[in-house]
Amino acid sequence: MNSSRREEELAGRLAEVRDELAAAASSVGRTPEEITLIVVTKNFPVSDAQILFDLGERNFGENRDNEGAEKSKILPDSVTWHFQGQVQGKKIKSIAEWANVVHSIDSLEHAAKFNNYPGLEYFIQVSMEPAAQHRGGVPIDSLSDFYSHAVTLANLPVQGLMVVPPLGSDPSTVFTEVAAKGRELGLNRFSMGMSGDFREAIAAGATHIRVGSSILGSRVTPA
Ligand SMILES: *Cc1c(COP(=O)(O)O)cnc(C)c1O
Repeated sequence: MNSSRREEELAGRLAEVRDELAAAASSVGRTPEEITLIVVTKNFPVSDAQILFDLGERNFGENRDNEGAEKSKILPDSVTWHFQGQVQGKKIKSIAEWANVVHSIDSLEHAAKFNNYPGLEYFIQVSMEPAAQHRGGVPIDSLSDFYSHAVTLANLPVQGLMVVPPLGSDPSTVFTEVAAKGRELGLNRFSMGMSGDFREAIAAGATHIRVGSSILGSRVTPA
C-alpha cells in the first residue's frame, strides 16, 4: 500500500475512534480529556506509528520488548510508551529502558525488579478469570494483599488497575467490578477497554483505553 493511502486510512479510523471515545464519555457525563487513548501498534511497522505521531498521537502500546525497543528509538522522545504484554523476568531491564508505563505487572517479584529503575509508572493487572483458564493477572481476591505489598516499593508508583475481560465474560460487569475494587483501595485510574469494548470500559470509569485493530486494522500475527 502506498504511504499516502495508509495515511488516509489511519487518519480516518483514528478520527472515528476519537469520535466514539468522546460520545461514550459524554453519554456518562465524562469528558474526553479524562481518557488517555493508547494506540496499540504491536505487529505493525514503525512507519504506522510515525503516521499516527504526525496525526497528534503521543501514547503508544506494545506487547513485546524487542518491538517496543526498536520503535521507541525511532520515534521522538515526546512519546509515552506503554508496555502491556506478559512480563518475563529476564526482560525487565530492557523494558525499563524504553517503556514509561507498564500495564501488566502481576507479580511482586517483577514489581521489585522494576522498582530498581526509577521513573516508571505501572498498573496492576487484575485477573477476573477462573484459575483454570488463567492468562495472567492478580486474582481479584488476592488484590488487597498484593496492593499492600506493592505500595511499599518507593520507586514504583501504582497508577491503578488494568484488566482484560475473560473470553465469554460480560465486559461491562468485569469493568464495573474492577473499578469498584480499585476505588475501595483508593485507586482511580483504570486501564481497561480495547477495540471491541472500550465504550463499555469508558462507561465503567476507564481512564486509559488500549486500542489497536480499530485504528490499525486486523493483525496478521496474533499477539
Ligand atoms: C493487543 C492488545 C490490545 C489491543 O487490542 P485490539 O483488540 O486490537 O484493540 C489491548 N490490550 C492488550 C493487553 C493487548 O494485548
